[in-house]
Amino acid sequence: MPISFRSEDYAALLDGAPDAIVVVDEDGDIQFANRRTADLFGWAPEELVGRAIEVLVPDRLHGSHFGERSRYIASPSVRPMGSGRSLFARRRDGSEFPVEISLSPLRTAHGLLVSSIIRDVSERVHREEELKRLRALADAANAAKSEFLSSMSHELRTPLNAVLGFAQLLRRSRKNPLDEQQRGMIDHIVKGGEHLLHLIDEVLDLARIEAGGVAISTEPVEVADVLTEVRSALEPVAARAGIAIELAPLPADARRVMADRTRFVQILMNFASNAVKYGRPGGRVRFACATTNAVDVRMSVIDDGIGIPVDKHPLVFLPFQRAGQEMGTIEGTGIGLAISKRLAELMGGRVGFASEAGHGSEFWVELPTSDQDSHHVDGASASAVRRVSPFADGELPRVTVVYVEDNPANVELMVQLLSEFDRIDLLTAATAEVGLDLIREHLPTVVLMDINLPGMSGIEATRRLRASEETRHIPVIGLSAAAMPRDRELAVEAGFIRYLTKPFDVEDVISALEAVLKRTER
Ligand code: ADP
Repeated sequence: MPISFRSEDYAALLDGAPDAIVVVDEDGDIQFANRRTADLFGWAPEELVGRAIEVLVPDRLHGSHFGERSRYIASPSVRPMGSGRSLFARRRDGSEFPVEISLSPLRTAHGLLVSSIIRDVSERVHREEELKRLRALADAANAAKSEFLSSMSHELRTPLNAVLGFAQLLRRSRKNPLDEQQRGMIDHIVKGGEHLLHLIDEVLDLARIEAGGVAISTEPVEVADVLTEVRSALEPVAARAGIAIELAPLPADARRVMADRTRFVQILMNFASNAVKYGRPGGRVRFACATTNAVDVRMSVIDDGIGIPVDKHPLVFLPFQRAGQEMGTIEGTGIGLAISKRLAELMGGRVGFASEAGHGSEFWVELPTSDQDSHHVDGASASAVRRVSPFADGELPRVTVVYVEDNPANVELMVQLLSEFDRIDLLTAATAEVGLDLIREHLPTVVLMDINLPGMSGIEATRRLRASEETRHIPVIGLSAAAMPRDRELAVEAGFIRYLTKPFDVEDVISALEAVLKRTER
């Protein structure tokens, strides 16, 4: 049989509630308050009875509260907590605190009453604010990290530019050809420099991915194209190591995946170059492909190389971990697989491996299948290099090149490089201001512009060239050690026709110049 409560029992029940409960009449006068009200507001319940509810409302909100109260009385309804509005209450000492309030009308013999349950949410609000503050701090730290990386990359690439550039220049110089032994030494310098550059790029790439600064754009990609591309890129290295690369036939249902093509190639290149690096002379590397379920395709790179001991397995995908190769002679950084894993995840895929020491390894990436057609790019025509050499032809008119660069080593490098070509006059300026004067005076055929300059930046100088009728048509090639995507964006916006990242490849500079000169001669 249900128990029947007396009115004191109800009051005791309300007193035990964890929230303040306040009942007001139609005029907004308090008729009841529970014990918890005293803890929250500093008023004893009996002190509150008879006072207007506004005594619990901050002074600054009295006006609006008054209006809301009359509207509620005119059409009362149950209004639950957590309506999303931020509400504030006032303690006896005048201090404010954030609250959530639920309202419900009580129709009684004494007329309409409104009961409100008031919850102190200070702690939650405080936690949210703390979280917001920490998030802002983390965002700022991330931004600072990006900024640091950008300038670090600049600082590291600039000296490397001189090292690699001069070494390449020495190697290709026709005027002062090197002997066999000297060429061998130069090859060591170039190899070391390129290794360092690769390391800088990998560290930057990983840091950028971790900072969430990598844009992935997926599209249907032909698996066969990518496997063929990776295979031909790796074939020379494999051949040198005495390793054969094989492509297993593709199953019909594993033709296309949804991927960011460049990043997909990067992952397979990582797997495949490891397979060769950690392979055995006379061994083989096999690319295989299979559908694992209805929605994913697994691309595997299988080798019969040295394998990985079981106790090192947990380290394989961790950054800067070389899983037992730290002391070995095989060069590496331990970053490639960490990048591959993150990239696969960003594309909605996964990576994994199986390996046994002494028997070989299988590394795989799984990506979602695509049933759409891909934008098929003809591999041969995309990679075909057209060699045009207007420089070599003595019949062609002379051209003037202005190079704006503050680093003397880079200027010297360009002077040496272009001195190989008799028909080019090179003018150099160490600041954008001087460069602009030179350009206006000589109206050169092409401008090579460094981006980070003392005073006006190369970007601003290029904007100015674009804005003037007289210089608008002059093509500007940007040269910068800044390799962050944002720098590239800015360069494109400013109107560079090409943007080369330092350390630039001598061949790249030449082919960029050739392309521009070809265009202007048409
Ligand atoms: P690293 O630059 O050292 O090659 P990775 O991140 O590419 O870095 O690989 C991490 C580690 O995993 C390597 O140092 C190596 O110990 C191991 N590893 C990767 N691929 C293979 C493979 N195919 N065979 C044997 N060991 C491998």
